[in-house]
Amino acid sequence: MSRVYNFSAGPAVLPEEVLKEAAAEMLDYNGTGMGVMEMSHRSQAFQDIIDTAEQDIRDLMGIPSNYKVLFLQGGASQQFAMIPMNLKKNGVADYIVTGQWAKKAYQEAGKFLTANKIASSEDKTFSYIPDCSDLPIDDNADYVYICENNTIYGTKYKTLPNTKGKTLVSDVSSCFLSEPIDVSKYGIVYGGVQKNVGPAGLVISVIREDLIPTEPLADVPTMLQFKTHADAGSLYNTPNSYAIYICGKVFKWLKKQGGLEAIKANNEAKAKILYDYLDQSNLFKGTVVKEDRSLMNVPFVTGNKDLDAKFVAEAKAAGLENLKGHRTVGGMRASIYNAMPIEGVKALVEFMKDFEAKN
Ligand SMILES: *Cc1c(COP(=O)(O)O)cnc(C)c1O
Repeated sequence: MSRVYNFSAGPAVLPEEVLKEAAAEMLDYNGTGMGVMEMSHRSQAFQDIIDTAEQDIRDLMGIPSNYKVLFLQGGASQQFAMIPMNLKKNGVADYIVTGQWAKKAYQEAGKFLTANKIASSEDKTFSYIPDCSDLPIDDNADYVYICENNTIYGTKYKTLPNTKGKTLVSDVSSCFLSEPIDVSKYGIVYGGVQKNVGPAGLVISVIREDLIPTEPLADVPTMLQFKTHADAGSLYNTPNSYAIYICGKVFKWLKKQGGLEAIKANNEAKAKILYDYLDQSNLFKGTVVKEDRSLMNVPFVTGNKDLDAKFVAEAKAAGLENLKGHRTVGGMRASIYNAMPIEGVKALVEFMKDFEAKN
């Protein structure tokens, strides 16, 4: 077996320790004589798995007791619809559009309520985060929506927007559990787990309880109501049980690393290696305004498409995979999530130096 350094934006690298443990338990989980994929989601063994996972993510993020943790399906994209459907009261919501995912969420919300685009960075290919200190927040806004780390463009909010008292909803898919956050500042904070936490097909939504409708919504499908899943402890129907199990293992791994403070320090150290090199390179150039750089997704270009393609191909041959940038940005993107070891980033920079010397 030989593993590569996988810089994929998602699904993405997972901690090797977690994969090995899961492999060892594939046929017989904890003496049950069956694997987690084969197990009833109503069994005590699975109830223990989901309860432990929930407690561990609560510990890691410091989730206050008046927030629910929901394990849902449909990915982050399903939340684009569930959020307006469930939070709609006045029928207005404000969106800050800082990339493709925020834009998709904004467009989807427009199907269910009046969605206002109150700020955008599309004028400069989403290469920065707009000033969000004094935005024209609608007096009737049911919530203000952001995508906190822009996976495709490599920008990240360093301070949360001033929502002028309105509920903040944030998509943290690509920075999930990468650093500590203050959950109490959010109404909803959610992420598809396949970027930084686990396998695809599971989204974890942390929701302040008062935002969950107390009565069933007549015009919203049962499966798309937060109440349905909150009332049933995320077991209204069969959940993505295997993904929940793997996420639970990743939570344990994160705790073992020292929790989110320690993970943040490690992520900063990794990103610094790459950004410091980019800042002095004569060949490669970062594409994002410095103050808004993501610790997780690092896009860069040579300015020459053929050279970019050559770089991606030669890097792949050297065991550095999935460095091709998103089709809308071109160039390269290195996603350096929690599970990317610092050695992987060092190997990438060494390879880039070598490539620069030769080209
Ligand atoms: C990948 C991604 C999504 C979409 O996730 P799916 O689970 O594929 O729906 C949404 N938001 C962000 C920030 C992402 O990175």
